[in-house]
Amino acid sequence: MNPPKLAIVVPCYNEELCIKNTAEKLSEVIAYLLDKKKISRDSFIYFVDDGSVDKTWNIISSLHAQNRQIKGQRFLRNFGNQKAILAGLEAANRFNCDCAVSIDADLQQDEWTIEKFLDKYQKGYDVVCGIRNNRKTDTFFKKFTALCFYKMMNFLGANIPVNHSDFRLINRRALNILNMYNERYLFLRGFFYDVGLKTAYVNFDVKQRYAGKSKFNLFNLSGLALNGITSYSVVPLRLVSLLGFTMTIVATILGTIAVCNKIFFANFQHDWVIDLILSCFFGGIELFCLGSIGEYIGQIFLEVKGRPRYITDVELK
Ligand code: UDP
Ligand code: MG
Repeated sequence: MNPPKLAIVVPCYNEELCIKNTAEKLSEVIAYLLDKKKISRDSFIYFVDDGSVDKTWNIISSLHAQNRQIKGQRFLRNFGNQKAILAGLEAANRFNCDCAVSIDADLQQDEWTIEKFLDKYQKGYDVVCGIRNNRKTDTFFKKFTALCFYKMMNFLGANIPVNHSDFRLINRRALNILNMYNERYLFLRGFFYDVGLKTAYVNFDVKQRYAGKSKFNLFNLSGLALNGITSYSVVPLRLVSLLGFTMTIVATILGTIAVCNKIFFANFQHDWVIDLILSCFFGGIELFCLGSIGEYIGQIFLEVKGRPRYITDVELK
């Protein structure tokens, strides 16, 4: 069998401090894999500049001018890391690659694990997910929120592998299936798990970010988590109905007790503080439920408009 054509997809947003080192390290991996005849000569690295406002794109362009194994595209503006990965995978499809690996531009994920991914690919796996051995580079807050997210996703019935980020290999079959989905807000971690493709897991050690700062803050991490939940589970909507039903029963029982007290024992007491607490409590629950439904409506609203997932400004082929 001929060695596969591999694309290494790298999403980048304001990564001017990392990009050159990343290109060098990934080129070393490509040279090594070529040497071992594990990939074909036309394999390449594909950078997707997610609308950076620093020199990221200039660096990518000059790397491309020196080495045609480095390709890439630039978005018109920032569309988010999931779109950048998607654009890279779509490019891998257009360039007729046999497989594609997505990896972060800060190389926190161990690039040499790609060889293990390819071994699994050769064994016939469609998807190979990189699983972090630990989260020692993450803050306590990130570890905690990530754990809550995975637990919640599993509880809601949308299973995703724990400690898997977007470091994975997918083969041509998976690329073709991905092409059939035209959801704007595809949550890739959920997607590859949900499709039911033959999946392998490979552990790797997380490194420190090479340079620069994390591009994710609480705001965009919660956006990603909410998108994951609303894309892959309707359980929150059912919980809202269940909660409404339970509260109706509780209110009926309490109401009956109050009426009986008034009629039979004439000791009904009215306390405005309790009234206030209860109305705040139930008001809070109602708003929370409305907000949960709103998340789904928002998702429908964004999908129904059918806007492009991203807009490419320039492509270096
Ligand atoms: N990224 C992106 N668009 C964004 C935010 C991040 O393409 O809007 C890229 C970023 O350049 C990096 C990857 O996504 O290659 C992961 O981001 P980061 O390392 O900042 O996240 P963390 O590792 O802290 O979760
Ligand atoms: Mg990182």
